[in-house]
Amino acid sequence: MKYKIAVVAGDGIGPEVTSWATQVLKAVGKKYGHSFEFLPLKAGGCAIDDEAFGEPLPPQTLEAAKSADALLLGAVGGPKWDTLPGDKRPERALLGLRAGLGVFANLRPAALLPQLKDACPLKDEVLKASHHEGKAEFDLLIVRELTGGIYFGERGRGGNAEAAGSDAGAKALAFAFDTEKYSRAEIERVLRVGYEAAMKRRKKLTLVDKANVLESSRFWREVAKDVAPDYPSVTTDYLYVDNAAMQLIRAPGHFDVLVTSNLFGDILSDEASVLTGSIGMLASASIGNGHGLYEPIHGSAPDIAGKNLANPLAAILSAAMMLRYSFSLEKEAVAIENAVNAALDAGLRTADIASRNGNSVHEKIVGTTEMGEAVIKGL
Ligand code: NAD
Repeated sequence: MKYKIAVVAGDGIGPEVTSWATQVLKAVGKKYGHSFEFLPLKAGGCAIDDEAFGEPLPPQTLEAAKSADALLLGAVGGPKWDTLPGDKRPERALLGLRAGLGVFANLRPAALLPQLKDACPLKDEVLKASHHEGKAEFDLLIVRELTGGIYFGERGRGGNAEAAGSDAGAKALAFAFDTEKYSRAEIERVLRVGYEAAMKRRKKLTLVDKANVLESSRFWREVAKDVAPDYPSVTTDYLYVDNAAMQLIRAPGHFDVLVTSNLFGDILSDEASVLTGSIGMLASASIGNGHGLYEPIHGSAPDIAGKNLANPLAAILSAAMMLRYSFSLEKEAVAIENAVNAALDAGLRTADIASRNGNSVHEKIVGTTEMGEAVIKGL
């Protein structure tokens, strides 16, 4: 098969890590007989600096990204552009790309690889207690609704200062509000993304909500109960968000796929990412409306840019997610994940994932290049 992949390398370590992700994709293509065409595009600080564009998200970039089969993004931003007003900053490109592509479901896997378990803040016995084979590992996927809910709902402030007649009265009367509003269609489409993902994993889906209090959450449950019968091989359960926050640090091994709203997903996915130890390992996918945007969750890391220090594995694992979710190339995605595991098994560590407890006799600290080369060799 032939695939056209748009690549926004961006700023800082973005170009270094995406370069390894594309090289890994080429190696996968060679091994499995696929052809990947890469279309380099500018967005972020480098697009602002380019006289031909002068803005964070040139319209040509968005159009080209829409026409590609998928988009791989490195990272954007850096101190050089920090003094620009909000709507001119490199980070605007991220929102513009997500909104422009209409990618409404954000998939963020959080897996603790056995090789990196020293990086997890949880105790071994806590991890083992929740794993079906008693291993100190977990592998979960949070599917967060990305373009609706309280982050986009009606909001405002009110209060009648004049009627109150005094500052203190005005304060007493003042109020502010945000609105959580979801349509059936918005809930259903993100649930289906969750179920499709669960079908490719361990076939368990947990809907996280606050249905004991919120009407919108009760509606999420109703919609889930309507959608679940379409996926009979997937077990569905329901968990209140406060309990989910607790279970994530008490028994992460119990989870497979969690589906939740924009607000709850924002909070829970950050909580889950901490459990895996390093930001340099975490990949993400944002999908919807026939588009897919794949990016490491880290930023442009200006402190280590250009020094051969960046961990390329989050970008490489984002490429694996692209194969899985945009192209349905499961065995190719697994091949990348296995090659990453093999590099870690061989003891290779970029500085961010090196042991912090002096337990480093079997580890070799390497740079971006050696880690990227090792993954390709593993393939
Ligand atoms: P950051 O993720 O860039 O860096 C945080 C820390 O993690 C730094 O110490 C960095 O060296 C380290 N780190 C990050 N990625 C790493 C990797 N692959 N390997 C090894 N170490 C890594 O976050 P920040 O410092 O808050 O932000 C830097 C810039 O990136 C800012 O301009 C910010 O706005 C931007 N940013 C962009 C994105 C994106 O493009 N998606 C996301 C977050 C931040």
